[in-house]
Amino acid sequence: MNVAKEILELVDKSKNIVITAHRSPDGDSIGSSLGLYRFLKALGHESIICHPDPCPLYLEWLKGDDEIVDFDQNEERVSELMQNADLIFCLDYNGAGRVGKGMSELLTASSAKKIMIDHHPYPDDFVDISASHPEVCSTAQLIMELIVKSGNESLLNDSIGAPLYLGIVTDTGSFRFSSVTPRTHELLALLLKNGVKHSEVHEKTFDNNRLDRMKLRGYAISEKLEFIPEYGVVMLPLTAEELERFNYQKGDTEGLVNVALSIEGANVAILMSEKDGKVKLSFRSLGTIKVNGLAQDHFDGGGHANAAGGITSETVDETLEKIRGLVPSYFEKINA
Ligand code: 5GP
Ligand code: MN
Repeated sequence: MNVAKEILELVDKSKNIVITAHRSPDGDSIGSSLGLYRFLKALGHESIICHPDPCPLYLEWLKGDDEIVDFDQNEERVSELMQNADLIFCLDYNGAGRVGKGMSELLTASSAKKIMIDHHPYPDDFVDISASHPEVCSTAQLIMELIVKSGNESLLNDSIGAPLYLGIVTDTGSFRFSSVTPRTHELLALLLKNGVKHSEVHEKTFDNNRLDRMKLRGYAISEKLEFIPEYGVVMLPLTAEELERFNYQKGDTEGLVNVALSIEGANVAILMSEKDGKVKLSFRSLGTIKVNGLAQDHFDGGGHANAAGGITSETVDETLEKIRGLVPSYFEKINA
């Protein structure tokens, strides 16, 4: 039996279905959650999306009022939903810890059947059915496969398809990363044939910048870039004070690390942003250069070879200093 059918059989047997995704939601975690939720609804199954923290502003347009509840703002409701669940989908993450402390305790304690649909490498073994495909560009593409391989292509419409299209767009840097395959484009074509208005998705997501957001990005690039040319490493540190100065809203620095990586001669880009006394790091790299090792070894994180993340309790300055020291042992000199 194919995994898609196995998943839908389990859905048929379940009464209380919860869809979860990783902390700090992005286009793929929100898009795959909404795509799956609406697909299940079209099949006649009610479910609920429980995320650890709220949807960023730039993705608000995608969701309806009652589709997503988040643990940060509705701890009691999410706890109850997780405790009553008999089936939990784990989308776009590979380990229970990725949903944050509160929700990971609920997830681990739950006796519900768990299904992982994810594309991050090195999945932990905490689920009953695992559809883990690190070679696939996005979880949204995997949800598309679930729909197609379970024989439900006829259910695709703009409502199910737009969030899935968005998930693929955002996790592939608008179809540019090497993770994009002919299959990705076949599935995108299917989405367009079934009513997804692709230019609307792009406009609503990318052409809706608040002025403060644009100014923060301009400031970061013009004032804060630190380039280590011998190693092709670009660092972009932003303190809490600087973020506040530009009325920072969740999602305002999304994609900024890729802008830094686009600089001529840059092979690695590291964005640091300080929040609640911690510094969150986003790592990106080109080609065969890997950044997940650095994230995992020194910043309590991990991720893909070319896109990883982590966190530290040190200050922004201490983090910068630490990375300056680590660069020679993780990256090779250019033209050495
Ligand atoms: P971002 O920089 O967009 O926050 O994260 C990029 C990628 O790094 C994510 O897709 C995810 O794979 C990974 N990642 C980000 N933060 C963490 C973390 O704290 N732990 C782990 N294991 N991976 C992370
Ligand atoms: Mn993803």
